[in-house]
Amino acid sequence: MFIAGDAAHSHPPYGGYGVNTGFEDARNLIWKLAAKLQGWGNEALLESYSAERHPVFRSVSRDFIGRMIEDFRGFMARFAPERDLADFEAAWRRRAEGEDADVTQFLPHYEGSPIVFGAPGAVSGAVGVHAFTARPGHHLAPRPLPGGGEIWDHLGDGFTLLNFGAAPAAGFDAAAADLDLPFVQVHLAEAELAGAYGAEMVLVRPDTFVAWTGSEGDAAPGAILKHAIGAR
Ligand SMILES: Cc1cc2nc3c(=O)[nH]c(=O)nc-3n(C[C@H](O)[C@H](O)[C@H](O)COP(=O)(O)OP(=O)(O)OC[C@H]3O[C@@H](n4cnc5c(N)ncnc54)[C@H](O)[C@@H]3O)c2cc1C
Repeated sequence: MFIAGDAAHSHPPYGGYGVNTGFEDARNLIWKLAAKLQGWGNEALLESYSAERHPVFRSVSRDFIGRMIEDFRGFMARFAPERDLADFEAAWRRRAEGEDADVTQFLPHYEGSPIVFGAPGAVSGAVGVHAFTARPGHHLAPRPLPGGGEIWDHLGDGFTLLNFGAAPAAGFDAAAADLDLPFVQVHLAEAELAGAYGAEMVLVRPDTFVAWTGSEGDAAPGAILKHAIGAR
């Protein structure tokens, strides 16, 4: 049984995280269920739903909702309109005009997931620094293509290997066929894109999160694809 949305994580309606978190639950779960039904998924892939989503919601509740409530409590203790209305209004204006750290730091990610190639010891959560580079466990950043269009226009319904190197990586196609994976390789020999994403090759999951980055030289296609679906 899998639980998603408010049934899995209800919290005070604070900060607009409810629907966001519920939609991300669904997006994380749905391709794993499809994988199982289509025959290329396994129990470990299904278990990765909780492994990926639990730390994100723990972080949302602790690092955003809980912290915001404490922050407001501190503000109301320090500035009370009934004590000094002008002081309160000035502080409120400063607060409203300031940088919204909750927006800039909100970055749900699965760096510590058992099915992505995150850094050793990485932990999944909802706090991060936004970047346009491709990072395992993070959502793929969109990017316009030199000839027009967008990189997202090229993503398949299953796994997509973005290959910005000089030649197609045939080993990935063969390994994907062995595993019966829905897979497409998008070969765009664009050094500029490799530089922008910080990788020659980027493996993108069906939920558009990055599973692996690397280059042809260090790639073991079968092992990489197996890891990305939790296959032993
Ligand atoms: C006052 C308020 C303000 C909010 N503001 C925001 C906001 O600004 N931004 C934001 O992102 N989130 C906000 N939220 C949270 C957001 O509404 C919820 O996170 C979201 O609706 C959860 O969606 P859900 O599908 O998981 O659950 P729900 O929306 O609760 O849907 C569950 C559905 O299941 C039905 N159901 C229950 N039991 C059964 C049963 N036995 N059989 C069949 N059907 C059943 C229910 O009738 C309901 O329709 C707010 C919530 C509240 C209360």
